Amino acid sequence: MILAKIDPSLHQEKKPDWIKVRLPSNPVFFSTKALISDLRLHTVCESAQCPNRWECWSGGTATFMIAGDRCTRACGFCAVDTAKPLALEEDEPQRVAEAIRRMKLKHVVITAVARDDVKDGGALHFAKTIEAIREMDPTITIEILTPDFNGKENSLQTVVDARPHIFNHNLETVERLTPLVRSRAKYRLSLDFLKRARELAEVAQWKMSTKSGLMLGLGEKEEEIFQAMDDLREANVTVLTLGQYLRPTPQHLPVIEYITPETFDRYGEVARGKGFAFVASGPLVRSSYHAADFNPHEA
Ligand code: SF4
Repeated sequence: MILAKIDPSLHQEKKPDWIKVRLPSNPVFFSTKALISDLRLHTVCESAQCPNRWECWSGGTATFMIAGDRCTRACGFCAVDTAKPLALEEDEPQRVAEAIRRMKLKHVVITAVARDDVKDGGALHFAKTIEAIREMDPTITIEILTPDFNGKENSLQTVVDARPHIFNHNLETVERLTPLVRSRAKYRLSLDFLKRARELAEVAQWKMSTKSGLMLGLGEKEEEIFQAMDDLREANVTVLTLGQYLRPTPQHLPVIEYITPETFDRYGEVARGKGFAFVASGPLVRSSYHAADFNPHEA
C-alpha cells in the first residue's frame, strides 16, 4: 500500500559510487559480534541492516537495541521486524551494562523498538538500562534514541528522570512525507516530544542535549528539509544528523534520489548556520554513526 503511492518512474535502484559498504576485515568485528551474541543482545546495527556495521563493529562499538527485536510499528523505511513482541527481559539492562564494560565504551547509544503493547511504551526499561550502565561506570556518557512513547508525558518524565546525557528522537523525514514514511508517528508530536524532553531536563536542572535526524532521498524538497531544520531548532534541538535513506528490501519504500556528498556538505553548513551546535551530514551518516565524536558533553 505504501509503495502504490509513489510514482515507480522515480525509483533509484542503482547505488552510486559514494555508497560503499566495506566488508569485515578486522578481527575486532568478529569479537564484537561474538560478545553481542554471547550476552543475547540485539543491536540496531544488525536489525536495521546498517551499512556502517563493518566499520563500527571493527572499531569495537555498536548501538544496543533494547526491549527485544520485534517492533509494534511498521515504518516504510525500517528493516526491524514487525511482530508481536515478547515480554521485556528483566535482566537485559544488566546485560547491556556488561557488554559496555567488556567493550570498554566511554560513550554509549541505546535505542529500542517501539513497544506500543506496553503501557509506558518501554520508558521504564530505558530508565533501568541507563541506571544499570551508570551503576557499572558513572563516567560513561549515555545517549538514548527513543521511540515517541505515543507522546505520553509520564513516559517522557521517566526517561528524563534517569538523566541521559543526550536524548535523541528522530524526526526521520519532512512533514509532508511523515504519514507515508513513519507508521503511526506524527511530525508535530515528535517535535513537541523533543521540546518537552528538553524542558523537563531544565526543570530538573540536568544538562541534557536533544538530538534528531533526517533520512534524505525519499522525495523531500530542499525547502522542506530547511523547514524541518527550523522546526527542530524551534524545539531547542542542538544536535542533528543527516543521512541517505537506503532501501533495506524491495518491500520497503524506494529511494527517490541519491543525494551527493557535496549536497550533504552544503546541508551540513546550512544546519550549522541555523544554530545547530553539532551536525553530522553525509550519505552514510546514521543517528549513532561516530556518535562519540558529536558528544556535546565533551565540548
Ligand atoms: S552507525 Fe550506528 S547503527 Fe550503524 S553500525 Fe554504527 S553504531 Fe551501529
